[in-house]
Amino acid sequence: MKAYSLMQWRQPAAFREVEVPEPGPGEVLLKVGGAGLCHSDLHLMDWEAGTLDYRLPFTLGHENAGWVEKTGAGVTGLRAGDPVLVAGHWGCGRCHRCRQGMENYCERQGQMPYAGGGLGRDGGLAPYLLVPSSRLLVPLEGLDPRQAAPLADAALTSYHAIKRSLPLLGAGSTAVIIGVGGLGQMGVQVLHALTGARVVAVDTSPRKLEIARRDGADEAVLADAAVERVRELTHGRGAELVVDMVGTEGTLQLAAGMARTLGHLTVVGLGGGTLPVGFFRVPYECSVATTYWGSIPELMEVVALAEAGRIRTQVELVPLEHVADAYRRLRAGAIEGRAVATPNG
Ligand code: NAD
Ligand code: ZN
Ligand code: ZN
Repeated sequence: MKAYSLMQWRQPAAFREVEVPEPGPGEVLLKVGGAGLCHSDLHLMDWEAGTLDYRLPFTLGHENAGWVEKTGAGVTGLRAGDPVLVAGHWGCGRCHRCRQGMENYCERQGQMPYAGGGLGRDGGLAPYLLVPSSRLLVPLEGLDPRQAAPLADAALTSYHAIKRSLPLLGAGSTAVIIGVGGLGQMGVQVLHALTGARVVAVDTSPRKLEIARRDGADEAVLADAAVERVRELTHGRGAELVVDMVGTEGTLQLAAGMARTLGHLTVVGLGGGTLPVGFFRVPYECSVATTYWGSIPELMEVVALAEAGRIRTQVELVPLEHVADAYRRLRAGAIEGRAVATPNG
């Protein structure tokens, strides 16, 4: 089968021919329904050798959903044809964190040359995906895998970044999302569904701001005007939560400029910027944290929200052959929601 793969560091990915894998004991082979194209894939193609200790080549695609094709020996509770969403981060499955469902923070991560399918191991940009264990699969009831794929990363990562700050987000509070692309649009919806906060979307693209408004943002402002507008809206106090989905020097500065005393400034974007943290640099008792993905129980909560119709993915379906063009459009900011490759049509 044709698999869209990272062949060399600092190169665009390319198609290579690989065998359809045979599931071994405990493993599950999926027929891929949808594989979301994440901005992190662009970072992967840009980073130098040595940035990550992944071995090349591997198939890209870490935001995956599909149907069970075949189960390996010992797998119970799954039948061929079952629709499932794949938890994208694959830890050791045995350490304390993994047992709590936080495979994204596996304690043995340093000993593994991969983080998951599409991140050092073969991912979903191919007709079939081998998943190492059924513990990584969340059943989909009533959602099409092609529409559901972005729940595995765009929605889960946003959900986790917001959920940890829920006690700050009661009525009268303000939450800001900087960068309302694939992740940020889900973040706006999660804030709307879960909190009493006034939701402010910030972007450099007027079209993305329009989409954020449609998704339930109370205010949508261009980045240049954002600090002033958030200060104005909050009577100078700032926002309880600022989630930076871009993470460049510039957006981190914006985030620090609109965060509030006792607030949270949460960095999700891998833009490579740094924020000087010091006594007069961020508001008093404002916590600064990075977050990475979310847990499997949180993924189940995200699926429940989507099944209840309280969040929805905005998906542009892309045939696998056109995936290189879709990545080019993602880089140019020309994908409206999430592009999702459909290797099986
Ligand atoms: P995307 O390209 O779909 O969206 C990015 C958005 O940011 C776009 O709407 C763009 O217009 C906007 N933007 C760009 N520069 C901006 C600026 N200076 N100010 C305001 N807005 C700006 O990307 P995505 O797939 O949503 O990913 C967003 C980031 O999150 C990427 O860096 C990605 O690697 C990262 N990411 C992190 C995690 C994690 O676990 N921490 C998981 C997935 C993705
Ligand atoms: Zn991602
Ligand atoms: Zn572990």
